[in-house]
Amino acid sequence: MSRLDLFIDRMVSQRACLDHAIAETAAMPGPVFELGLGNGRTYHHLREKVSGRPIYVFERAIASHPDSTPPDEMAILGDVRDTLPAALERFGATASLVHADLGGHNRAKNDAFARLISPLVEPLLARGGLMVSSDRMYFDTLTELPLPAGAVPERCFIYSR
Ligand code: SAM
Repeated sequence: MSRLDLFIDRMVSQRACLDHAIAETAAMPGPVFELGLGNGRTYHHLREKVSGRPIYVFERAIASHPDSTPPDEMAILGDVRDTLPAALERFGATASLVHADLGGHNRAKNDAFARLISPLVEPLLARGGLMVSSDRMYFDTLTELPLPAGAVPERCFIYSR
């Protein structure tokens, strides 16, 4: 499988999982958390598809497309190892949807980071909330769900509380 194949599978899976998770949590009022803004493509998708819920973006350094840049008050700047615990104090267990796409090209590093932040993400999710991730997460109390149609196994993961 080429890097192009992997990239396409990841993009297709992100969209399928996000669309599914947005629809499944549409009745929930709690905030949506986007972990890792990057170019802002998935943030832009969330902004287009989510209605009636605030979308907070966690990012250490904003470098997104101008069309996909959150307003200052919706950007939570800093390393997620610091900002996720602070978000728990601020928001409690209220997130209706958390999307994480924090990884780079090194799969072993991505896996180690996913293990590290799993316990920081886990308590933020409200009951009935969903977590979508590009990397496998390591949760004690969340359940991994089957992927929706169109998503490619191992390219995206969905968890529920
Ligand atoms: N989903 C985005 C999109 O569609 O354009 C791409 C996200 S990109 C793969 C990963 C982003 O996560 C980068 O912008 C990086 O700065 C951010 N990131 C990685 N580790 C981080 C950390 N420890 N704290 C905060 N942001 C981090």
